[in-house]
Amino acid sequence: MKKTKSLRREAVDYEKLYEETIKELHDGESSSAFANALKQFDRAAETLKLTNNQVAVIKDPRRVVQVKLPVRMDDGSIKIFKGFRVQHNIARGPAKGGVRFHPDVNEDEVAALAFWMTYKCAVVNIPFGGGKGGIVVDPRKLSMGELERLARRYFAEMMDIFGPERDVPAPDVNTNPQIMAWFMDTYSMHHQNYIPGVVTGKPIDLGGSQGRNSATAQGMVHCVHKAADYFKMDLKGTTVAIQGYGNAGSFAARLLAKDGCIIKAISDVDGAFFSDKGIDPENACQYVEKNGSLINYDKAAKVKKIADPMKLLELDVDILIPAALENQITHKNADKVRARIIAECANGPLTTEADDIMEKKGTFIIPDILCNAGGVTVSYFEWVQNRMGYYWDEDRVLDELKRYMDKAFDDVLRTSIHYNVPMRTAAFIVSIQRVTRAAELRGLYA
Ligand code: NAD
Repeated sequence: MKKTKSLRREAVDYEKLYEETIKELHDGESSSAFANALKQFDRAAETLKLTNNQVAVIKDPRRVVQVKLPVRMDDGSIKIFKGFRVQHNIARGPAKGGVRFHPDVNEDEVAALAFWMTYKCAVVNIPFGGGKGGIVVDPRKLSMGELERLARRYFAEMMDIFGPERDVPAPDVNTNPQIMAWFMDTYSMHHQNYIPGVVTGKPIDLGGSQGRNSATAQGMVHCVHKAADYFKMDLKGTTVAIQGYGNAGSFAARLLAKDGCIIKAISDVDGAFFSDKGIDPENACQYVEKNGSLINYDKAAKVKKIADPMKLLELDVDILIPAALENQITHKNADKVRARIIAECANGPLTTEADDIMEKKGTFIIPDILCNAGGVTVSYFEWVQNRMGYYWDEDRVLDELKRYMDKAFDDVLRTSIHYNVPMRTAAFIVSIQRVTRAAELRGLYA
């Protein structure tokens, strides 16, 4: 434990980081996800006329932890990985947020994702704060044994950070129920107790919740239904393009296809594919299951390969669903995006500059902190079930999820109309008000 603490850095000056990033603007736009997140915050804070004291308490992360992770590889060598955990805010409850395994993970990105978690949990009104973690690694290059040792080492190094009442991680990009099971086991063995509530997104056999796998996409679908009602759109025959075909993207495709939508294009890290008649999402899932990704999917199914995968974002479809990574739509391509609705399954897929362009075009954006909140909402149900030791059936989970998502969408839409602001700013207004109230009621310790 001593070794862990000496490696930790607490005093990151986020105001400075923000200023520096703004200075580094290239072509008038920052690539920093955290700078983007803070700009989104500023817009809502301005509308709410928050005081400097209110902003000071809820804007920056409360804790940033970086750890070194030595892992013995299968060939006997020791490889060092870098891991992060950021707790952004815990005014409304334990920090909550996934752990991402990706070669591009960095402190800026994790801080942004933790920030979004605070406001995501508040927008759906579940009793959590915001956190996020990550390891700089390409998990595809590790064996199962190496992956398990890395996951366990990460959790062991963060033992005093995590806990069912402190900070509760979950899956994110490239992490899954098996990794959550290793996290939970590491924590439980250390405490000589069975503690399933320390992590969510676990396998069902280990205290996972029914409905968790599809929850993020299901929550997005509830938002899309609400948006369709608002615009009096019939979803039958509505065309859709989806960037990213992992957990969020593949369930999004399957659920929307069940509603009669035509999935015109899908993509993943290995390519983008298009069919005018529509792609069969089940067939694409089976293909990914067998081949590990969509690579060469055009050869296996009657679909076209899109030469430049980024062009998927510019297709003439009704609904565009970014479900991969952040900063995908920027001032460089926003003008070319033709979708009428963007449903953000991914976190931070649009920069604020892109937001401005989309707003001028009249595109309706269902913002990430609302649109993809179904995942964390069912994670909350999982945590509740773990603490009760009583498990719900899938129907109950899905009913509760719909209730939370519909209420959150209505709150945000009403706020958007009331203040005459875009949906993203409205989502931040709803959630910032809740976080500010909790922070003020708690006051300052010391
Ligand atoms: P995942 O690892 O299951 O899937 C990610 C997908 O994105 C994969 O298909 C991958 O190949 C693809 N991808 C990666 N880089 C790409 C690129 N440059 N172009 C196109 N595709 C690319 O991850 P996930 O859980 O589906 O998460 C996707 C997004 O949704 C992330 O932004 C995540 O933070 C967000 N999200 C996920 C959940 C959840 O419960 N899974 C909840 C909230 C938000």
